[in-house]
Amino acid sequence: MDLGLKNRVALVAAASTGLGRATAERLALEGAKLTICARSQQTLETAAAEIRATSGSEVLPVLCDVTNESDVRRVVDATVERFGRLDVLVTNAGGPPSGGFAEFSDGLEPYRHALELNLLSTVSLTQAAVPEMRKNGWGRVIAVTSLAAKQPSTSLLLSSVARAGVLAFTKVLATELARENITVNSVCPGFTMTERLLELAEAESSRGGVTPEEIYDRWRSDIPARRIADPDEFADVVAFLASERASYVTGVALAIDGGIIKSLY
Ligand code: NAD
Repeated sequence: MDLGLKNRVALVAAASTGLGRATAERLALEGAKLTICARSQQTLETAAAEIRATSGSEVLPVLCDVTNESDVRRVVDATVERFGRLDVLVTNAGGPPSGGFAEFSDGLEPYRHALELNLLSTVSLTQAAVPEMRKNGWGRVIAVTSLAAKQPSTSLLLSSVARAGVLAFTKVLATELARENITVNSVCPGFTMTERLLELAEAESSRGGVTPEEIYDRWRSDIPARRIADPDEFADVVAFLASERASYVTGVALAIDGGIIKSLY
C-alpha cells in the first residue's frame, strides 16, 4: 500500500529517542521530509544524521522544549522556511513522574508541570501548525498520549489526568477541522520498550521491593499479547494515520497496546 507520504512535510516532537524517534524514522522511510525537535543538541543532531542515512530523506533538527511556546513557534516557522509547508504534526513529549495520590497529595506544582508537558504542549504545537495546514487544505495532527488516557492508573495519576485532556482537545479539534481536510487523532501507546518504560520499571521496583525484571514479567502477564511492544510497531500505526490512506479517520483515540485496555472505546 502506498501511504502517499512522499514529499509530505512532517514535524515530529520529542523525536531524538523513543516513540518520537521511531515515528520520525518511519515517516522519513515513507519519503516524508522531516523536522525533528528535542532539547539536547547532541542527541538531536545524532538522530537527524541517522535518520538521513537510513532513509535518504531531508531532516531538519531544531532545538525545542515543547513546554516553551516561543520554542514551539520557532520550530514551526523553521519548518515552513525550510520546506515551504507543513502537512503532518506529531505532538509528543516525555511523560510525567509516576505515582498516585499518596505521592502527589501536597501542592499543585507536579500537576501544573504534567499539564504543561503533556496537555499544553499539544495545544501550542497544534496552534502553531494548523494555520499552515489550512493554507493547503490538507493536514494530519496525531497526538501521542498513553494507555492511561483511556484507562486511568493509580500508578500514573499525573499522566492519566493530563492525557484525558488531550483526548478531549483532539476530539473537539477533529470535529472543527474535518471539513477542511485536516484529520486529528490521538494514539494511546501501551507498554513499549523505550527509556520511559525503563524509568517506570525502576520506579515501580523501588516502590514495591521487587526487581525491574519482575516488574516486566508482571506487565507481560497482564498484556493479552503477552509481550512488550517494539517502538516500530507504534510508529507504523502513526504513519498510517498520517497517510493519505487514513483520510476518513478522525477524532479517534487509537490504542496500540497489545489488548491491555479493557474499555470498549
Ligand atoms: P521517552 O522518555 O523514552 O522519550 C521521550 C523523549 O521526549 C526524550 O527524548 C525526552 O528528552 C523528550 N522530552 C521530554 N521532555 C521534553 C520537552 N519538554 N521538550 C522536548 N522534548 C522532551 O518516552 P517514550 O517512551 O518515547 O514515550 C513518548 C510519550 O509516550 C511519553 O509522553 C510517554 O509517557 C508516552 N507513553 C510511553 C509508553 C511506553 O511504554 N514507552 C506508554 C504509554 C505512554
